[in-house]
Amino acid sequence: MPGISNKDLSEGIKRRAAELGFNICGIARARVLGEYGPRIRSWVNAGMNDNMGYLARNIDKRIDPVSLFPDALSLVVAGLSYYSKVLQKDPEAPVLSRYTYGRDYHEVIPEKLNLLLEWINTVRPGTGGRAFTDSSAIAEKPWGREAGLGWQGRHSVLINKSIGSFFFLGILILDTELDYDDPFDKDHCGNCRLCIEACPTDAINDNRTIDARKCIANLTIENRGPVPEDIVPHLGRRVYGCDICQEVCPWNKDLKLPVTPEFTIDKEIAEMSLSDWQNLTRERFSRLFGKTSMSRVKYEKFMSNIEAATKSGNR
Ligand code: SF4
Ligand code: SF4
Repeated sequence: MPGISNKDLSEGIKRRAAELGFNICGIARARVLGEYGPRIRSWVNAGMNDNMGYLARNIDKRIDPVSLFPDALSLVVAGLSYYSKVLQKDPEAPVLSRYTYGRDYHEVIPEKLNLLLEWINTVRPGTGGRAFTDSSAIAEKPWGREAGLGWQGRHSVLINKSIGSFFFLGILILDTELDYDDPFDKDHCGNCRLCIEACPTDAINDNRTIDARKCIANLTIENRGPVPEDIVPHLGRRVYGCDICQEVCPWNKDLKLPVTPEFTIDKEIAEMSLSDWQNLTRERFSRLFGKTSMSRVKYEKFMSNIEAATKSGNR
């Protein structure tokens, strides 16, 4: 009996991805993304990766899927929204980036991608694959474009016309041929510069990259040291990440999206007041955030962010 065609399998993958909760899904042929190498190198050479040394290493490998999965032929790229209608209640409270809400996406997305791989094996047995999300090993945003999902906005984040930019990307590299989507070749930013104008620290460069040395998202999470004194007045109460450049983007206005159940904010966190945050004990921090993506930051760093952000004034 002949096996399933590439076209039928590709359509089936997208249907199954939707059943698993993914909002968007595209498929790209595996190739070396050589055109991104010089751009990443010049960003690193300018020191804009701050202290994220891992982004400076293995650039050639990060743009070559074969270096991650030797038999790579196809990449399934799927987006899962973390758009939330319920935000933190107290306007005086320190602000968390929306992507911290709910379960840790580093667990949720590979679980879903591995279920997708299981399904693929029911219709094309013997297919091998490897799942990635938010991994320094792979250049996710370029692969999102390559799989036809959207374009990198001026704030560097991938934007999809239907679901905006509040979504995580997951990638499943497969050792089987599929039917491929066309790369996204449009730029729907037009003349807009809202994100550049709104960034409180001028961290957005004119070539769709971010200077991590100035970016609040980096300085409150990846950079283990205290937030630099010149950045503190611009925190606007942000203590873990920053959504400003995405919040002002017209492509994120009036989104009509189902809320991903795994990424709804915990009621207790949503209702915490400023004094709750200032008096957050190590035990409560572990209980509230142990299963979220915030478990990656140390308690001491988080409390120093709260102290800095409280000094910074309102949003
Ligand atoms: S995340 Fe915040 S600080 Fe970083 S570029 Fe966007 S607006 Fe600027
Ligand atoms: S705010 Fe404007 S310039 Fe920035 S990413 Fe959105 S559409 Fe593009």
